[in-house]
Amino acid sequence: MKIEEIFDAYKECVMPTYTKYPLIFVKGKGSRLWDIHNKAYLDFFPGWGVCNLGHCHPKVTQAVREQAGKLIFIPNNYYHPQQAKLAKEMVYWSFPSKVFFCNSGAEANEAAIKFSRKYGKGRFEIITFEDSFHGRTLAALAATGQKKYQSGFEPLPEGFKAVKFNDLEAVKNALSSKTVAVMLELVQGEGGINVAKKDFVIGLRKLCDENNLLLIFDEVQTGIGRTGKLFCYQHYGVIPDIMTLAKGLGGGLPIGAMLVKKEITDTLGPGMHASTFGGGPVICKAALAVLKAIQKEKLLTKAQRAGEYLFLKLNELKGKFPVIKEARGMGLMAGLELAVEGKQVVEKCLEKGVLINCTHGNVLRFMPALNISKKEIDKALAVLAEVLEGI
Ligand SMILES: *Cc1c(COP(=O)(O)O)cnc(C)c1O
Repeated sequence: MKIEEIFDAYKECVMPTYTKYPLIFVKGKGSRLWDIHNKAYLDFFPGWGVCNLGHCHPKVTQAVREQAGKLIFIPNNYYHPQQAKLAKEMVYWSFPSKVFFCNSGAEANEAAIKFSRKYGKGRFEIITFEDSFHGRTLAALAATGQKKYQSGFEPLPEGFKAVKFNDLEAVKNALSSKTVAVMLELVQGEGGINVAKKDFVIGLRKLCDENNLLLIFDEVQTGIGRTGKLFCYQHYGVIPDIMTLAKGLGGGLPIGAMLVKKEITDTLGPGMHASTFGGGPVICKAALAVLKAIQKEKLLTKAQRAGEYLFLKLNELKGKFPVIKEARGMGLMAGLELAVEGKQVVEKCLEKGVLINCTHGNVLRFMPALNISKKEIDKALAVLAEVLEGI
């Protein structure tokens, strides 16, 4: 297809639900991407937090190739070795739990919401937070504490109350006899990289224990090494009752997962929840390769070090450019709050060959691959400095 034909096909045949840059990508390797003109880009936001191992990690590619030639799909009323291995591995690296497999972050959260309602036996209210993001399906959207995503889709499923983030009193005040769960991201991603305070999370655990509430961590974005530990909750020493995962888990392939504390997993029995594609052989094999590579290549240590370096450099930039209000985040999940809209900065970085993101209007977001090098960080931030110079 010629370049114009590609743009035309999108224009005529693809639903226009995304704001797009006029770039056509054809190849990726590690933190680099190539467009159709063979121009190379440094990807400082690979796959919106999906490609935590960089693009086309050789072990993931190999796993997919192998499994695709053997058995691509088998439904969930039979057994296959890859799902068994992956579930075992996920439970081993997290907390005593059982896994439900689905295909995306929204689906994982949807599963958590349904699980909570079944568990509640009449209690159904879930407390969520302002500026949270839990996905685009109706219940996940209702759980999302941002009006801009919800507007026009009312009536939303009821039973969600969004209160102020990092405010334990607000949670206490929102409790009722109908409350069954509290759901949060430990670092709010789409909401502008807002980090949960340790006291707050510890307080939530205590509050949930005292009131028989489920504590749900949405680790769709923070999970799989993003914050320097395999799961973000490990920074807090607080174990949730339910954890949801997606983005980084499949190395670029679609997967979602809900992990539920072992004692309560029987809440859902046969026929109560399902996903046709969930946990298929190819995706499980890919996810296994991701988890293996993280251990083998010491990517958590690397992400911690790279994260420290990144924040050092971001704070240097902050000292230099008054337009930067704050650098915040954890590990390799970093946000730079600007005093102006970030859109122009993203566009100018793009022109100069560096892909970054802006969320919440004025927060530049960087989530490079866990194996990003110092040199690549230097390069990305040099370009960013150049762009900020002109603002
Ligand atoms: C991206 C995201 C989701 C939604 O995931 P999808 O795979 O797009 O459905 C949910 N929660 C968080 C925290 C996310 O970052």
